[in-house]
Amino acid sequence: MARYTDAKCRVCRREGQKLFLKGDRCFTDKCSYERRPYVPGQHGRGRKKISDYAIQLREKQKVRRMYGILEKQFRSYFEQADMQKGVTGTNLLALLEMRLDNVIYRMGFANSRDQARQLVRHGVFQLNGRRVNIPSMQVSQADVITVREESRKIPVIQEAQEVIARRGCPDWLEVDGPNLKGTIKARPVREDIQFPINEQLIVELYSK
Ligand code: SF4
Repeated sequence: MARYTDAKCRVCRREGQKLFLKGDRCFTDKCSYERRPYVPGQHGRGRKKISDYAIQLREKQKVRRMYGILEKQFRSYFEQADMQKGVTGTNLLALLEMRLDNVIYRMGFANSRDQARQLVRHGVFQLNGRRVNIPSMQVSQADVITVREESRKIPVIQEAQEVIARRGCPDWLEVDGPNLKGTIKARPVREDIQFPINEQLIVELYSK
């Protein structure tokens, strides 16, 4: 599957915000954004007037890169969100949050969405007792994710209990650290997504 492979810290600097793409490193003083909080490149520190279109575009790029999704798939999430009942922007965020790789990251079984994606592809998890290897799979309320018996010894998973205890998880999820098991209690609502996102800008961009 095609994916963004450029330096991740450049993405944060480009978007002017910490997107937490590198796991634990993002919480240390090695974070590139903390050290150089300006757009990469020769003209990064110049002041530019930004159009409304550019603001909408940057918001979309920020969210897309945060969840590690390519343009075509992101647009298809928007189209699905638009067809659902309710507020399109909130539906879009819920669809992104309910991706299997994101849920695994949120539960603390991985340090970043990239790592979660890799673990899923390697078949480390079971969804409702069945092995899964598709990171973009949508989970549903009451689904149960477990780490396969054979994968419990891999170092990332062994560290997971410490990560779960340190990070906690959002209210819409429930994690049983000692048993390496997580449950989706509910579909996330807007208040569950704490990261600063202005989804209305994305709706405006795609509605032009
Ligand atoms: Fe972004 Fe800092 Fe993490 Fe790099 S280390 S991905 S700049 S938050």
